[in-house]
Amino acid sequence: AKADGKGTFRRFDPALDARVRARRNLEADLRRAIAVQEFELHYQPLVDARTGRITAAEALVRWRHPERGLVSPADFIPLAEETGLIGPLGQWVLRTACTQAARWPAHIRVAVNLSPAQFRDLRLADTVKAALTTSGLAADRLELEITEGVLLADEERTLATLTRLRAAGVSISMDDFGTGYSSLSYLRRFPFDKIKVDQSFVRQLPGDAESAAIVRAIITMGTCLGMAITVEGVETAEQFAFTTAEGCDQVQGYHVSRPLPLAEFLSFVDAREAA
Ligand code: C2E
Ligand code: CA
Ligand code: CA
Ligand code: CA
Repeated sequence: AKADGKGTFRRFDPALDARVRARRNLEADLRRAIAVQEFELHYQPLVDARTGRITAAEALVRWRHPERGLVSPADFIPLAEETGLIGPLGQWVLRTACTQAARWPAHIRVAVNLSPAQFRDLRLADTVKAALTTSGLAADRLELEITEGVLLADEERTLATLTRLRAAGVSISMDDFGTGYSSLSYLRRFPFDKIKVDQSFVRQLPGDAESAAIVRAIITMGTCLGMAITVEGVETAEQFAFTTAEGCDQVQGYHVSRPLPLAEFLSFVDAREAA
């Protein structure tokens, strides 16, 4: 047993110790990976529901690990958020996405995910503006995706940051819409440009009546509020047909394309534009 400093003793737990050590190793590995920029961005196209044209692509980070191969963001973003490493990693993502997108055809925008921790940083708006200036990407070609987690923090501060970002010409999307708690009241208080309907509502389309009703209602509500609607996680032709018939603005999902490495994404764009 070890003293915890307050005069009481805890029993040594080997399983907990192993988890703590694994976490510490992963954290050190992540820190190293950030220093040597061991990451890459894959891009998943968003298409216009009416024309089928590519209007944007979402940047999704992957860790190109020397031993573990390509590591999914689900396996390191949460730790990056807990440890504050999301700061430098998020900056890399933002700069890289802007720099790469600046060379795309001008009608294709880029969407970048921001974690709540990045949003709490008061310098965020300046960081974003600097990424635009350095890359030469026009502000109206950048969309920032945030989740409800961002809005749980200090409301005044969040609103101030959102307002500064929009004043800079950047647009803001509410990601994973419908999975949090107070989605509807947030829509009234914060200036979003776009709502992304969460994949969990799409999974059972078009057969499931409840899912269909929810997706239909979100599309109607968002449209009435002047927000564009993207439906994500569209995997089948039936789901694509349903969501476009219901009047969503953009579709994203495996039915259109999986996230692709930059070169493949650009080939995909060329092939689509030629078609
Ligand atoms: P997200 O922002 O909701 O991104 C969509 C996720 O759904 C991506 O997973 C994408 O590959 C996956 N997806 C797209 N279409 C389909 C589909 O038709 N079916 C299914 N089953 N899945 C689909 P990915 O790339 O593994 O990213 C997972 C999450 O990691 C993202 O969820 C986002 O929250 C986070 N993430 C990824 N990149 C970044 C980043 O650069 N910064 C931050 N802060 N978070 C990131
Ligand atoms: Ca997203
Ligand atoms: Ca999402
Ligand atoms: Ca998600």
